[in-house]
Amino acid sequence: MAEIDAITNLIKKEIASYEDKVDTSDVGTVVSVGDGIATLYGLDKAMSSELLEFPNHTYGMVMNLNEDSVGCVLLGKDTAIYEGDSVKRTGKLVSVPVGDALLGRVVNALGMPIDGKGDIEAAAYYPIESPAPSIMDRQSVNEPLETGIKAIDSMIPIGKGQRELIIGDRQTGKTALAIDTIINQKGKDVICIYCAIGQKNSTIAQIVQKLKEHGSLDYTVIVNASASESAPMLYVAPYAATSMGEYWERQGKDVLIVYDDLSKHAVAYRALSLLLKRSPGREAYPGDIFYLHSRLLERSCKLSDEKGGGSLTALPIVETQAGDISAYIPTNVISITDGQIFLTTDLFNAGQRPAVDSGLSVSRVGSSAQIKAMKKVASSLKIELANYNEMLDFSRFGSDLDPTTKAILQHGSLLMEVLKQKQYSPLSMEDEVIEIYIAQSHSIDSLPLEKVRDTLANIRSYIASNHPEVYKEIHDTKLLTPETSARIDASVKAVLEGMEPADKIAA
Ligand code: ATP
Ligand code: MG
Repeated sequence: MAEIDAITNLIKKEIASYEDKVDTSDVGTVVSVGDGIATLYGLDKAMSSELLEFPNHTYGMVMNLNEDSVGCVLLGKDTAIYEGDSVKRTGKLVSVPVGDALLGRVVNALGMPIDGKGDIEAAAYYPIESPAPSIMDRQSVNEPLETGIKAIDSMIPIGKGQRELIIGDRQTGKTALAIDTIINQKGKDVICIYCAIGQKNSTIAQIVQKLKEHGSLDYTVIVNASASESAPMLYVAPYAATSMGEYWERQGKDVLIVYDDLSKHAVAYRALSLLLKRSPGREAYPGDIFYLHSRLLERSCKLSDEKGGGSLTALPIVETQAGDISAYIPTNVISITDGQIFLTTDLFNAGQRPAVDSGLSVSRVGSSAQIKAMKKVASSLKIELANYNEMLDFSRFGSDLDPTTKAILQHGSLLMEVLKQKQYSPLSMEDEVIEIYIAQSHSIDSLPLEKVRDTLANIRSYIASNHPEVYKEIHDTKLLTPETSARIDASVKAVLEGMEPADKIAA
């Protein structure tokens, strides 16, 4: 009998202490699930952005902390989760692997490899959100980030640590611009991250292929949240990519990050917010849509020397509808960034590629990051193009033009021709300076337009073989001295003299 009493007492004791052992603040229950969203009961101590663990290795992220429920987005499929399932806190914020092992890899928004090249050994795990560096930890942009694209390096220069928006309608060469910039970082000690948000997987495969062909994959990470993935993955991707970049930035390195594109990111966030029953505002976007992008882009900067002097340069991409840059998301992102490169369908279709609209494109901090030689040759480029465009509209009304107008038109069309550039062929800063110098010296104004680009290439190779010191000078001193200019002038003359007379005069 005594034995039974003892057992009963033991059981009673166990039952009494049962509640204490199971901490309901760390475990919750799924109340409802669907569309990548789960509403949970319990989890009183859950933190915002905390990683939650569901059965079957499914994870979620806390988004809404309501009085009596927790709203969570699922990072993965929601098909294996049922009402009544239990869910555990992990005590960790959603984090991604960082480190050199990511270079040359394609990963998803959570840093998991999706290129079939095996596991990634992380140097550390960083939470996807981190506070932007404080004012005291920053310094102003003072070093150029060379894109290798003439139209940009000359008129809309970008500096390391700057945020420059690439904006334009669909199929205007936005992605091409960003990829060319990545290709141009080869041998320049800049680590690149291409974050694709809502793109087609086939497009990403092509980009990976192109980067590989140009030997640019070794210093690049591709973070891909494709169109086929759930809205939470698209939402997380740019923050995760930025955390990966911050790892190198904090080591004093230079990082370039492309977000392609933030329009699709905003749409994913809107879908997710509506499903979480947050109230919709203008264009049905939630009230914090501005904060969504400002807290992302504020993380890009040039760190002070005390903090190692690393930099995070951001090239966010935004797609417009019918060239409307005054729509909601475009104006938001324009006001957050340090300038924009505006690409237009008209220019693109007219064969002006890259289709940069020099009038509407600006770089608010970049010119302090331009080398002196480039500043010298490109200073009047923008104003001359503006004049040219004005005259062009004007000249459509009549054919009788005075000689000054004719000269402006002729020189303007030459400049437009010089600024054309093929995809995947970024130029060195020296080449760009030489080409723009020649164009601005008016020595090739009378060339037929179709001969301009070939002739410039010929002059460059003439200089490279006959006056290599020109390249060395510009490279070492970053200046364009009168002696160097004279050597370029002589080379132009020599090449022009060698051309057939018929090739030299515009019809
Ligand atoms: P989407 O809106 O679909 O993302 P996008 O604005 O990113 O388009 P891209 O995909 O970069 O545009 O370019 C559109 C097309 O134009 C591509 O076929 C590309 O090869 C071509 N293209 C882009 N830039 C140039 C260029 N400088 N010279 C010639 N072709 C170009
Ligand atoms: Mg694109």
